[in-house]
Amino acid sequence: MSTAVESEGTLYKGSCHCGFAKYTVRLNFNKPPPSLHGANLTKCNCSICHKAGTLLTDPGDDGSSTFTLLTPPSEKELGMYTFNTRKVHWYFCPKCSIKLYCRVNGEFNGVEVRAFRVNVLTLDEKEDGSPVEDLKSLKIKYWDFKGQDFPEAPLDGPRNGGLW
Ligand SMILES: [Zn+2]
Repeated sequence: MSTAVESEGTLYKGSCHCGFAKYTVRLNFNKPPPSLHGANLTKCNCSICHKAGTLLTDPGDDGSSTFTLLTPPSEKELGMYTFNTRKVHWYFCPKCSIKLYCRVNGEFNGVEVRAFRVNVLTLDEKEDGSPVEDLKSLKIKYWDFKGQDFPEAPLDGPRNGGLW
C-alpha cells in the first residue's frame, strides 16, 4: 500500500443488524484525527452513549466525503433520535434499532462543533473483504460526561464504577 493511499485510509463496509441499513466509511486508524486525542475510538458515558453502548470513531470530516449511506437511499428513511439541546442527531435502523452514526451540530462551551461519529461496532469488513482490525488492538479514550457539561479531554480509562 502506498503512502498516499495510507493517508487516505481504508474503506470499510458497515450495516445495522437486520441489513436494512448499509454504508461505507473511510477510516484511517493509523492517522486518527486530533478529535480522538491520540486514540482510535471513543467511549462516552453521556446519558445516551452509556445506555446504547456505542463505540465511536471520527472519520475526520463531517461525513460528507468519508461516509456513504448505501441503503436506504435516503437518510430520511432511517430513524433519528435527538434530545435535550438537540445538537446531536443519532441515526439508527428503524427496523432493528441499531445506532449507526451521529451528527453533531451546535455550540459547546462557546465553540461551534460540527462533527460526525460512526459506531464502529456496526463495521462488517473492509471493502476488499478482509476483516476489520481487532478492535481490542485499537486505542480507546473515555469521555466522562457524567456530571459535567463538556470535559476538556478524555480519560485513558473509564471513570470509577463504569465500563464506558
Ligand atoms: Zn436494521
